[in-house]
Amino acid sequence: MKKPKIAVIGSSSMDLVVTSKRRPLAGETVLGESFEMVPGGKGANQAVAAARLGAEVHMIGCVGDDTYGKDILDNFKNNGVHIGYVKQITNQSSGTAHIILAEGDNSIVVVKGANDFVTPEYVNQSLTLLKKFDLVMIQQEVPEETVLEAVRLCHEIGVPLLLNPAPARAISNEVVDKAAYLTPNEHEAGMLFNGLELSKALEKYHNKLFITEGAAGVRYHDGSGEHLVPSFPVKVVDTTGAGDTFNAAFGTAIAEGRDLKESLRFANRAASMSVTGFGAQGGMPTREEVEKGLA
Ligand code: ATP
Repeated sequence: MKKPKIAVIGSSSMDLVVTSKRRPLAGETVLGESFEMVPGGKGANQAVAAARLGAEVHMIGCVGDDTYGKDILDNFKNNGVHIGYVKQITNQSSGTAHIILAEGDNSIVVVKGANDFVTPEYVNQSLTLLKKFDLVMIQQEVPEETVLEAVRLCHEIGVPLLLNPAPARAISNEVVDKAAYLTPNEHEAGMLFNGLELSKALEKYHNKLFITEGAAGVRYHDGSGEHLVPSFPVKVVDTTGAGDTFNAAFGTAIAEGRDLKESLRFANRAASMSVTGFGAQGGMPTREEVEKGLA
């Protein structure tokens, strides 16, 4: 198999996670039990996952000029992600997620910070400079106009674009039409097609729309019928990042020329393995691990 060249456009952040017996009321201070910093952001997660799976990955994104920005860049480097197109924005904070795990649930405040600087102009410039790649991947933690620009440009230059429409927001018909692959989960899929029944949407966008269904796997229509490609049974530790791993693996397999069915099986295998480890990036498998799991 050739080593595919993939551009990932998207967010990167540092997740600051505290655990506490209970969450503070307004105006109250409580003592927490632990603190951890883990790199995250859907764009960064997908870039790291694809690099671990053997793709040549070029990240197109922005970080701040704070210490988190440096940590995010170090994490890309440690995972073999190319960062020539990651811009460090002066006087900006990096994207951060402030997470309190308490009483069996989490509360999260996200500050987009430098991720708002992933503008249409920046993406256009970067993709033009990068030239020749097999696939572009993008998600929805960057401005809506940026997604539109990426979709238009890729369509114009004939490079397939995989849009993971997460987090959920409505998207225009132009984006649906010009993207090569759409990979919502069931909740996101419900927001995409103006009330069109999902089975009808699958048929209309056959071989383009792939709806992930957690442990069940992924559903699509191949033009002659609807199929559920089952995932693999595993012992679940933490499902964070399952969707990101699925997208990275699906994109990598498609970009290296595998057919759809094989790519979906590869993606299910990689994503199922990712839920056996802690944190979004913690459980992301390498190519060797996935191949072994498929053997
Ligand atoms: P998340 O937001 O948790 O990252 P998501 O909601 O975007 O995930 P899901 O549909 O939950 O996406 O999962 C994506 C893929 O991950 C599934 O299609 C499947 O391949 C795999 N997966 C998720 N959960 C499990 C599980 N419990 N067991 C096996 N595979 C799983």
